[in-house]
Amino acid sequence: MTVDQQDLDDFAKDADAWFREHVDPDPGFMLPLTFMEVGTDRQFEYLRDWQRRVWEAGYLGAAWPKEYGGGGLDPAFQKAATEAMRRHNGPIMLNAIGLNWTGPLLLDMGSPEQKRKYVKGILSAEDIWCQGFSEPENGSDLGNAQLKAVRDGDAYVLNGSKIWTTQGNYAKYMILLARTDPDAPNKYAGLSFFLSPMRIEGVETTPIRKLTGEYGFTQTFFTDARIPADCLMGEEGQGWLIAMRTLEYERGARGGQAGGYVLTPLDAFSILDLAGRARRDGAPALDDPVMRDKLVEFLIEAQGLNLCQQRVKTPALTQDRPMALPLASKLMWTEFARRLNEYAVTLTGAQGGYYVGDDNAVDNGLWARGYLNAFSATIGGGTSQIQRNIIAEHVLGLPKK
Ligand SMILES: Cc1cc2nc3c(=O)[nH]c(=O)nc-3n(C[C@H](O)[C@H](O)[C@H](O)COP(=O)(O)OP(=O)(O)OC[C@H]3O[C@@H](n4cnc5c(N)ncnc54)[C@H](O)[C@@H]3O)c2cc1C
Repeated sequence: MTVDQQDLDDFAKDADAWFREHVDPDPGFMLPLTFMEVGTDRQFEYLRDWQRRVWEAGYLGAAWPKEYGGGGLDPAFQKAATEAMRRHNGPIMLNAIGLNWTGPLLLDMGSPEQKRKYVKGILSAEDIWCQGFSEPENGSDLGNAQLKAVRDGDAYVLNGSKIWTTQGNYAKYMILLARTDPDAPNKYAGLSFFLSPMRIEGVETTPIRKLTGEYGFTQTFFTDARIPADCLMGEEGQGWLIAMRTLEYERGARGGQAGGYVLTPLDAFSILDLAGRARRDGAPALDDPVMRDKLVEFLIEAQGLNLCQQRVKTPALTQDRPMALPLASKLMWTEFARRLNEYAVTLTGAQGGYYVGDDNAVDNGLWARGYLNAFSATIGGGTSQIQRNIIAEHVLGLPKK
């Protein structure tokens, strides 16, 4: 698709004006920093309404096909809209699992009926999606998932449990990895992938509280839950293949997401302001040469990571190891955000220990809360250790242990 530069410039200008007008700098209550921390109905309703309005204005799903609710435009338009959203500090997009991995997966591998049925509701936030991969005994070892799906006439009967189900209590649908053939020749071949309804008899969710004291995920129990047989995606036994493709979207190794962001963007430059006013032991924090040195290291690292993102788009720069940067990006960005948040708390010395709700907390506890929240992205979607294993095996070609 060729992009008319004038059209793109006009679109970007309109998007900038729209976000300037519509982002409310103070909704009057604390908004979640990431889609994994949507813990109250008030936050949920606010963010659902926000996503719908962004989509209706044409600034979400701009590059998804028109027939499924998208804008049918070149991805450059969505990029411009997301940049405007970021410039004006728009809240996160709520329906993260729908927008970032279920939607692209459906557009990529779904049947025409599945696309028609699900994609528009993902964009409008009418249909919230959750992900049922992890189980109490099988997280990193996803291929060992044990939740059973047994075919019975025109239905599958589900029994078992999933855990850490982000937005499980709000979701209408779940992408579900389940075992349809316990006797398959290997553990992967016995798995199937379902687009499964959540609001049916036999499905129950129990909220789980996090390090931050907030809620955001659930344990999900399936007890003789019957779902229509056409909830199966692909064929029986293709679950592992589809789950791996899903993880490529989740980890950002494959493009096609609807746009916007689902984690409050943090780059090193956003803590420059804090660094300028922070005090440790009664003196400006940046009087300390170690703290100053560290800040410069973070700024350099941030710039390096940004340039790496640009490099991905230039094939000549990545042809030796095409998957190196896509596979490394989740690891690099999530660990960077965790270290940067930690640094932000350290910058403010003893005062950094005060948390949200305490009058003494720096910036209402934003940094302390950000630090505790930053661990989630280093675990969800595969832990940093697992991501290192993947890079070792699939990029560097090291032998499996
Ligand atoms: C905030 C949050 C949201 C989440 N949301 C969802 C969701 O919506 N849906 C969902 O299905 N799951 C979700 N998860 C679960 C997440 O995917 C798992 O927690 C993760 O895959 C790790 O699995 P586990 O918790 O069972 O840990 P384990 O697999 O038990 O791992 C424990 C530790 O051992 C290490 N380890 C395990 N195996 C290896 C190995 N082979 N090599 C080196 N180290 C290893 C791990 O890195 C980790 O440090 C979420 C998790 C978090 C924190």
